[in-house]
Amino acid sequence: MSLDPGQSIIHLKGVGPRLQATLGKLGIYRYLDLLLHLPLRYQDRTKLTPLGQVQVGSECLVQGKVLHCGVQFGKRRSLKVSIDDGSGIVHLRFFHFSKYQQASLEKAVYVRAYGEFRYFGRELSVAHPEYDTFSTPPPEPTPALTPIYPTTQGLGQARLRSLVQNLCEQPWPELPGTPFGKLKFLHQPPAGSTYDDVAEVQEEVALDELTAYYLVMKGRALKRQQEQAIPLPQSAGLGRTLLGNLGFHLTKAQARVVSEVLQDLEKPVPMLRLVQGDVGSGKTIVAAFAAIRAAEQNGQTALMAPTELLAEQHYLNFSNWLAPLGIDTVLLTGQMNAKQQKMRLAQVASGESAVVIGTHALFQEKVTFHRLALSIIDEQHRFGVHQRMALQNKSEPDQQPHQLVMTATPIPRTLTMALYADMDVSVIDELPKGRQPITTHTVEAGKREQVIDRVEQVLAAGQQAYWVCTLIDESDEIDAVAATEMFTQLTKTMPQRRVALLHGRMKSEEKLSIMQAFKAQQIDLLVATTVVEVGVDVPNATHMVIENAERLGLAQLHQLRGRVGRGSQASHCFLMFNRGLSEAAKIRLNAMRDSQDGFYLAEQDLKLRGPGDILGTRQAGEQSFRIADLSVHAHLMPKVIQRGEALINQQGHEDAPGLAQNLLNAWAPADSGHLSV
Ligand code: ADP
Ligand code: MG
Repeated sequence: MSLDPGQSIIHLKGVGPRLQATLGKLGIYRYLDLLLHLPLRYQDRTKLTPLGQVQVGSECLVQGKVLHCGVQFGKRRSLKVSIDDGSGIVHLRFFHFSKYQQASLEKAVYVRAYGEFRYFGRELSVAHPEYDTFSTPPPEPTPALTPIYPTTQGLGQARLRSLVQNLCEQPWPELPGTPFGKLKFLHQPPAGSTYDDVAEVQEEVALDELTAYYLVMKGRALKRQQEQAIPLPQSAGLGRTLLGNLGFHLTKAQARVVSEVLQDLEKPVPMLRLVQGDVGSGKTIVAAFAAIRAAEQNGQTALMAPTELLAEQHYLNFSNWLAPLGIDTVLLTGQMNAKQQKMRLAQVASGESAVVIGTHALFQEKVTFHRLALSIIDEQHRFGVHQRMALQNKSEPDQQPHQLVMTATPIPRTLTMALYADMDVSVIDELPKGRQPITTHTVEAGKREQVIDRVEQVLAAGQQAYWVCTLIDESDEIDAVAATEMFTQLTKTMPQRRVALLHGRMKSEEKLSIMQAFKAQQIDLLVATTVVEVGVDVPNATHMVIENAERLGLAQLHQLRGRVGRGSQASHCFLMFNRGLSEAAKIRLNAMRDSQDGFYLAEQDLKLRGPGDILGTRQAGEQSFRIADLSVHAHLMPKVIQRGEALINQQGHEDAPGLAQNLLNAWAPADSGHLSV
């Protein structure tokens, strides 16, 4: 009989309560979890390298007769083992070692070791290699690639391998979605298989995982079709009034997206639409038109922003736009005093306020809506899926709010289609007219004085600037320039300029008043942390300096830089970096300097850092895929979609969610939420 994949890992040979707890840290609770805990990479330990041919910097498998073993007292105390195979001599070094280890190495006649070789003084050595000792000539090396697993403290590679060995010996049932054989191949590549063979199977399994994910997403979309929402047909035409009041024309792209959204809202099924648009493309106004439509039908809108600063900016904009139409907007943040809070919550509960803007404070239990018709999530890549869901539960029991999700993260189209398969997607692919290109400079931190001079001149001419520091106070990162220190320094060097400080630890009111003063041009230079990353909109601010730019990913740099270039004057961005840049950081900064195209930058980010950062899942504390790696497997997406659609059609629409659930059970067991974006 085949085993039950859902069985607790405690029943596996070799697992006791202590190991069970350790495995739990890796998310391994059941047999299936261990089977899906796939190697990160592989090592080739199939061939011995003669000691005379060992290359510096390369990882290799060596063996030899022990010439000498003993503790050395040099700069650092270490255990040194010298081995000889007739072709040359190399040394193993251990800077930490146990008595037991020392004794066993002293007793050994032969040693076999795997690791990376370097020179210690003049001696070719390997530090802390994986090794085995022998009293007789060692047997042939293992003929198969050696898997290296992601692991945690207290659980070594050898132990994990042996657990997997115990697991793979058992008779497995066919898993829905992925044949056991493929997974076993990845755990225990057969003798003679190459890196390429493994990569090929990895790709097949990734295709399975991504297809499962696609089906789950599609299943959700189908389920949504069967749910009810408040239909929001056009009536009073308040949107036209706003259009007349705006003082600018919508871009073609904005107009198209607004009409796509409004058409969705007319239907009695919940909308779930993603609006993608580069920084500054004007997504907020699209949200406003949707909120107006809801208000016309006595429905409330909840608008959730990832930061208080952004929520406050939205509050100001929405109040300006909607108050003349007789629609009331209210702000809910974590920083209201008790009296304000009580009053505002009452306004929300009674339905007096049609538009409710806030941070995650919006889904506290005490927030009850009168009639929630629409929820809008801004900068959705900053939120986890759980938060999105929580807001969904705020509507009437048998009704779902329409959902509008906005993001400035430009994701390549095939990726979007697969990853956001549960949503409809609209793209604002055009910036409002008259935007100025931003010239970007990369500057070594040592040349800060010159940048200060440059900024000072611009401020003297009546323009404004941001000086962005990546940390508030000196803390874990040693060389971070603290915003507070920078503020003090810049205040001293530019005595004639009005310099202000803005960071996330300030009181809400203080932040709000500083932002208002900056907007009103009562402040010349805003020294800030990355709180200004989203939502800050001051067209007269034309220069931005970003400290420690090498630390940030492309997506974040692009967002930050999007704060300038909003007016009619030429804008500049200075990316300050510290000496000793890594190759990847160099490529990132150069990409930023050379391009202002969000899509291009997103693609580079995908190549350089993988999808976690680009999709924001890492920020939101969610895991990414188990085996699929979008920086490697993005090209599979068309296939994923094709295969997923074929499966759905074969199953009939009715059953698709059931099949999806099966696949989800296989690929995303304990917490299916993590597969969502
Ligand atoms: P994002 O897409 O980054 O959220 P915003 O909605 O904050 O962009 O818009 C950026 C700025 O552009 C705001 O000041 C907004 O009022 C302005 N804006 C939006 N649409 C237009 C337009 N069609 N013409 C001119 N300015 C616009
Ligand atoms: Mg925005």
